[in-house]
Amino acid sequence: MQQRQLLTDLSFDELGAWLTGLGQPAFRAKQLFSWLYGSLVADWGAMTNLPADLRERLSQTALLTSLALLERVTSADGLTTKDLLELRDGETIESVLMRYEGRQSVCLSSQVGCAVGCPFCATGQSGLVRNLTSGEIVDQVLHFARQLHGEGAAITNVVFMGMGEPLANYDPVWKAIRTLNDPRSLRLGARRFTVSTVGIVPGIRRMMQEGLEVGLAVSLHAPTDDLRSQLVPVNKTYPLAELISVCREYAEQTHRRVTFEYALIQGVNDSPQLARQLGQLLHGMLCHVNLIPVNPTSANSYRPASRDTVLLFRQELNQHGIANTVRLGRGLDIQAGCGQLRSRHLSR
Ligand code: SAH
Ligand code: SF4
Repeated sequence: MQQRQLLTDLSFDELGAWLTGLGQPAFRAKQLFSWLYGSLVADWGAMTNLPADLRERLSQTALLTSLALLERVTSADGLTTKDLLELRDGETIESVLMRYEGRQSVCLSSQVGCAVGCPFCATGQSGLVRNLTSGEIVDQVLHFARQLHGEGAAITNVVFMGMGEPLANYDPVWKAIRTLNDPRSLRLGARRFTVSTVGIVPGIRRMMQEGLEVGLAVSLHAPTDDLRSQLVPVNKTYPLAELISVCREYAEQTHRRVTFEYALIQGVNDSPQLARQLGQLLHGMLCHVNLIPVNPTSANSYRPASRDTVLLFRQELNQHGIANTVRLGRGLDIQAGCGQLRSRHLSR
């Protein structure tokens, strides 16, 4: 049997062409987009302006979502929700909804697993299983958008900080961004998106040619090549000098500050001397450093830096004029670290 067409895999124009192939008039694309992204409906029966026989036909040839909720965990404060979602082939991914005052961010996965293999990351331990399609990425946003819709709220921000390396699955990630950015869809402004990358330099260069001012976050974790190559293996391919140089260009071109993620690991990358080197490395750049005490996973023995060490580290950065924030593992109680819910699921 032919696989059903996942509608969210299609851009507006592609949906029009697909419907034309079914002998339908072009305006049906507008109607379907409006049901999917405007009214956020998830069943054919609700699409009342489509003829019943068309709805019947669509329900046999097309799919409205690729995701099924397997497990949900909510943080003690109720503000962070993390869902384990099952894809059509039985693989699983995690997506997270974070609520702040007036702001609802979704944290998306871009791949099942990840090939990069950072030793502190739960996702990295299982290797890459497969890339997600653009529809599977869009569906994560719709999954939470539907829930918020019922509460009178909407998604305001989208960050690619879940499982996988977004720039290793470049085309589907960007197609998803363009679909969500489309004024006929969710109309999410380019500046509402942040792509977090381990530092794939050619991917960052491609981002600069997209003409959308999407936010860039780079997982730095160390200011020297020796140490970074241990923590982030792709550093051997794209060493710091190249990475920092393309980040400077990105900030200049988009007028957006680049975010650097730095997971503080006790006794590994948390010394004041490394903080000084980090300050020198980023000197003069429009940027912000997020310091995250590492979230321990079952697969490694890394421990988070102590409170005092974090303070000393910040002091050094402040002296170099580098803006920084400590991110205290939001939703640590729900295993909010990348890939932890999935690994628990797999080991069962
Ligand atoms: N692959 C991309 C995006 C997904 S990971 C990247 O690496 O940037 C999202 C962020 O979580 C990255 O900054 C990553 O370094 C960080 N991360 C992964 N495991 C972590 C852990 N155990 N503790 C703290 N941060 C972690
Ligand atoms: Fe992949 Fe990012 Fe995890 Fe590294 S931190 S293994 S790049 S998901």
